[in-house]
Amino acid sequence: MAAVVMDGKALAAKIKEEVRLRVEGMGRKPGLAVVLVGEDPAALSYEAGKRRDCQQCGIYYDTFRLPESTTQEELLDVIRLLNSREDIDGILLLLPLPKHLDGREAALAICPGKDVDCVHPVTMGDLVLGMDSFRPCTPAGVMRLLEEYRIDPAGKRCVVVGRSNIVGKPQAMLLLQNHGTVTICHTKTPDLGEECRRADILVCAAGRPGLITAGMVKEGAVVIDVSINQDDQGRLCGDVDYDSAAEKAGYITPVPGGTGPVTRAILMENTLTAALLHGKR
Ligand code: NAD
Repeated sequence: MAAVVMDGKALAAKIKEEVRLRVEGMGRKPGLAVVLVGEDPAALSYEAGKRRDCQQCGIYYDTFRLPESTTQEELLDVIRLLNSREDIDGILLLLPLPKHLDGREAALAICPGKDVDCVHPVTMGDLVLGMDSFRPCTPAGVMRLLEEYRIDPAGKRCVVVGRSNIVGKPQAMLLLQNHGTVTICHTKTPDLGEECRRADILVCAAGRPGLITAGMVKEGAVVIDVSINQDDQGRLCGDVDYDSAAEKAGYITPVPGGTGPVTRAILMENTLTAALLHGKR
């Protein structure tokens, strides 16, 4: 039987509408600042998307487009300025940064109370310790998709393919906190297929088109494809061979239209949370 397609666009619209209604009831608009260094086309397109999302949710939006030649000290100055601005609740530093800039130092400069993209070690530490804090947008979005489709990770075998700091590792932590039995796979995993076939919930975030074939999917599994790649024809695709995997899975996310829109909606939610906690963290 064909899988249930998990509709990320619909969930994102619902989350953004909830944010918009809550913002409407607030005394002041939450504010998000996006910092973009250089002219990376992907970053420019993300920036435009965030602007639209903020408009839809009634969130104040400010963008700092810095030239490629920006020095580390200039970047840190912008972040420090944003940390001190009362009208800004969330700071998002778009990646990739030009090679001469130190992203880790920049992340450390962001005040944790405004770290809506969860790049600061304090925010990540809170996540690992299960403390109340922001959750990284993409993994948190995956959890929301599971919740929306009433899929409880408790007692399930969960396999995460990818161990990056922004997706794989925090994803594994969130599944663990929800009582999943979690395996993390990566480039040194000897038999990826064997691990994936055991998964009741399979989250793919390797950034490799076609990596996950139907033969690696357990009958009835939940398959969440986080990756956003381009195929040979330049079309967007994930890691999963969608058509064949959809014949075997119980639930599956499309690319595009799966996790991507939910990630963006969670950023709006995190910005609202930052505004509600303003001055308390
Ligand atoms: P990354 O390159 O930092 O990490 C990829 C991970 O996958 C690595 O840990 C690596 O070990 C693992 N990997 C790579 N090839 C593998 C293989 N053949 N077998 C097993 N493991 C393998 O990437 P990232 O930043 O985590 O992003 C992953 C993908 O998710 C990308 O396609 C990216 O565009 C996408 N992404 C989507 C969203 C969203 O909103 N849906 C957000 C962020 C990233």
